[in-house]
Amino acid sequence: MITDTNRLHIAIQKSGRLSDRSRELLEHAGLRIQTGKNRLSARVENFAADLMFVRDDDIPTFVADGICELGIVGLNVLEEFTLGQDAALEVLAELGFGRCALKIAAPEQFDYQGLKSLDGARIATTYPNLTKRYLQQNGINASVVKMSGAVELAPRLKIAQFVCDLVSTGDTLAANGLRPVETVLESEAVLVRTTKPVSGDKTVLLDALLKRIQGVLATKESKYIMLNAPENALARITEILPGVEAPTIIPLAGNPGHFAVHAVCQESVFWETLETLKGAGASGILVVPIEKMMI
Ligand code: ATP
Ligand code: ZN
Repeated sequence: MITDTNRLHIAIQKSGRLSDRSRELLEHAGLRIQTGKNRLSARVENFAADLMFVRDDDIPTFVADGICELGIVGLNVLEEFTLGQDAALEVLAELGFGRCALKIAAPEQFDYQGLKSLDGARIATTYPNLTKRYLQQNGINASVVKMSGAVELAPRLKIAQFVCDLVSTGDTLAANGLRPVETVLESEAVLVRTTKPVSGDKTVLLDALLKRIQGVLATKESKYIMLNAPENALARITEILPGVEAPTIIPLAGNPGHFAVHAVCQESVFWETLETLKGAGASGILVVPIEKMMI
């Protein structure tokens, strides 16, 4: 593994549900990742950084140990790791992909009566720490059976009555005759950094990359909006524009008393917003995507 002291190291999942989106995010942040199949690491050609391709379960350890300064991992894996220990990790951003939930599921035919049905039961999971914390927080006395996979089979194999597993559509549970009954954690991919000291040169790189990533995340929702309006409508229009603090207002040549309003909307712009703007006196409304933004 490359451990070049002057380069940043970023841990992402080698192959799985988070791999493509993690790579994409870094590419949108301008990193040109060297290609190559089945590699454990890749050099970034135009930025002093290397990517480490690892199992998602190893990402928190790599980042907490400071081997990698940054990592992209599911909140579920991260919280399972950090629970009960003082890990040197900090979540920097929620990334909006890899959404799923850790849920307790019961056999379809089971007459589930709420949390009290879990009292004294056995629950199979690959997330024992999160499951135990949830049970404890809810005052339930149940035993947790740790499995490393194929958790959905546990009830049929009589290993446990319930399971606690990741769900996105619920199809896998249903295919195994199970239905979700409680939500333990809502999860998505997060960007994490080590809180171990980072050497001087790398701090500059880290800050630069974080700014870019924040820019990428901000542009996802943001739109650039342009419209024309008479002077007496400007105050009301500024109020309506979603997530705008100070729009740019430019006088329109040859049309006294009329202005062009330009602004970055930090929130989604819906058709309803455009209709309200029109109703307030706006015309020629244009909403365009933003490709890059540095905040
Ligand atoms: P690895 O080989 O890296 O250990 P894995 O099999 O543990 O891979 P994946 O199934 O690729 O992991 O899931 C990676 C992450 O994707 C999960 O930890 C979770 O954060 C997220 N995820 C999103 N939807 C789901 C889902 N339906 N089931 C499981 N994980 C999901
Ligand atoms: Zn894993």
